[in-house]
Amino acid sequence: VVKELVENSIDAGAKNIIISLVESGINEIRVLDDGCGMDTTDVELAVLPHTTSKIQDEKDLFSIQTLGFRGEALASIVAVSNFRIITSRDGHQGVMYSLKGGMPTTMATMAHDKGTEIIVKNLFFNTPARLQNLQNPAIELSYVTEYVSKIALSRPDISFILSNNDKEILHTYGRGVLLECIMNLYGNEIAKSMVKLFDNDGIFKISGFISNLSVTRSSKKDIHIIVNGRMIRNQKIVNAVVAGYGTLLMHGRYPVSVLTIEVDPGMIDVNVHPAKLEVRFSEEERLLQLLTTSVQRVLKSVDLSIQMKVDEDEEDKKYINQDSYDEEMKDDSSNPSWKNETTDEITQSFEMDNEAPEHYEYHEEKKETIVETPKEKFVQQQYNLFNENTEESIHLKYQLPKMYYIGQLFGTYILAQSDNEFYLIDQHAAAERINYEKLLNELEKEDSIGYDLLFPFNLQFSLSDAMQINEHMDEINHLGIVLDDFGGGTFTVRRIPIWIFRGSEQEFVEEIITQIISNNKKSKLEFLDNLAKQLACKKSIKGNEFHNALEIDYLLEDLSKAKNPFTCPHGRPVIVKFSKEQIEKWFKRIV
Ligand code: ADP
Ligand code: MG
Repeated sequence: VVKELVENSIDAGAKNIIISLVESGINEIRVLDDGCGMDTTDVELAVLPHTTSKIQDEKDLFSIQTLGFRGEALASIVAVSNFRIITSRDGHQGVMYSLKGGMPTTMATMAHDKGTEIIVKNLFFNTPARLQNLQNPAIELSYVTEYVSKIALSRPDISFILSNNDKEILHTYGRGVLLECIMNLYGNEIAKSMVKLFDNDGIFKISGFISNLSVTRSSKKDIHIIVNGRMIRNQKIVNAVVAGYGTLLMHGRYPVSVLTIEVDPGMIDVNVHPAKLEVRFSEEERLLQLLTTSVQRVLKSVDLSIQMKVDEDEEDKKYINQDSYDEEMKDDSSNPSWKNETTDEITQSFEMDNEAPEHYEYHEEKKETIVETPKEKFVQQQYNLFNENTEESIHLKYQLPKMYYIGQLFGTYILAQSDNEFYLIDQHAAAERINYEKLLNELEKEDSIGYDLLFPFNLQFSLSDAMQINEHMDEINHLGIVLDDFGGGTFTVRRIPIWIFRGSEQEFVEEIITQIISNNKKSKLEFLDNLAKQLACKKSIKGNEFHNALEIDYLLEDLSKAKNPFTCPHGRPVIVKFSKEQIEKWFKRIV
């Protein structure tokens, strides 16, 4: 009911929509808007089945711009509630019309502001079976809140206020600033972690925000897709966004994002699903590709290293520590190894916090002229962000600066510094990332160059594996490996690819062959990617090993050249950064 009423308000051109519930709406739903309103004749018509003002003739059906067009909603709500509508077209003369269970009870003229107010009481009073079907008030309220949040994100130009039993639940300002909406709905920290995305391929225009790596979720629920102003559900599109993150995300973790897609209405069909949530596209593949590559490109352009900072802002601190952080870690119980290895230790003494990406840094002077409260301060900063032309910098690939080795911590972490930063680097994760990228690069080459071994070696497989190996001999050769079947599961390896790391020849060849014969229906790219991950994992330096300074210098250099120096191929963080300024703050050298 809330959805239908709110969508009618939007279709009526409202700029302010106030939704007030009593008992999560079970007792009362009130939606007030400042849209175009209705006159007396229209009011009577509007509540009849199949009456709509949104389609004039049949050609309109092919370019629907409104959220509603079937004319069914009001009639069906009216039939199962005590319903009252008060509406005015001009802000003076208004009309009030009440019905009970679909039967008109009162109609009167009265003064009313321009717009419409609809009050729905005792929903389903005459259909006990449906009343029974309502969830408990808390769950109903969560449904309504989820919906209103989504619609508010899809329309930053409209102010929404949602309250229940006079308690405000959410409030957006309708100033047309998407990032401000994200902040209103998700809070400061998440808004700060957002990176702007924009792309246009002539057919699809994509814009919006995606989270950097400081914010991940255990479900895809916070990936919002808006098509021509309409929030939609489309798993393929959501997956295309996730695919853009590639190995940056840990298994089972997802970003927060709000992406708006604009396309000629003739290219989409919204009539697939009765709630108009599903949309079909012409050229869907093209859209999916575009989304994935834009997300990739934007992520490449920003600094994704985890930043440590001591935050003077008590409010922020509370938020990071208690709420979001605990919750995040709880979610992560599915992946205990990562939890134990890294974050726990880090967070014992520091708050984890990610600043807005480097090129969104705000000007000092502006900061000083800004109003007091943190919330307002942030709103101001967003405006700067929007005025700045960031398009150019987005196309630059972000690279780590030159880092100098300082020492090693617990035999596992490399300490390094650049001019203005101090870094902690997980050496195993770093090596894995570097090796993965090198290996993938080699594996993707059309023909792997091999060399003949001076001393061929044998590999032993089971008989069934041996049959598989003979089946896949072409693929094995293609990767630069040549072997002879000796019979009885024994193979003699005579030639191996040049990129195989010295000392790991036997292990690598065995792994590659095992991967090839167990490859079930993966695409070639996916297969190579997976193989690169496996091999990188085998190869990389294990934690708890000391290495000499020269080796580590090479590692640092390779890392700064990596396409993605920020996470290992399994999505774990590689590098944690402390700015000089932050460190000086700890020691109160600066305030
Ligand atoms: P639909 O939205 O599919 O047209 P509805 O039953 O939801 O059908 O609404 C019927 C008609 O009532 C709409 O076409 C519109 O003309 C009018 N209407 C409903 N709500 C409002 C509103 N808040 N402001 C102005 N007109 C409204
Ligand atoms: Mg409607």
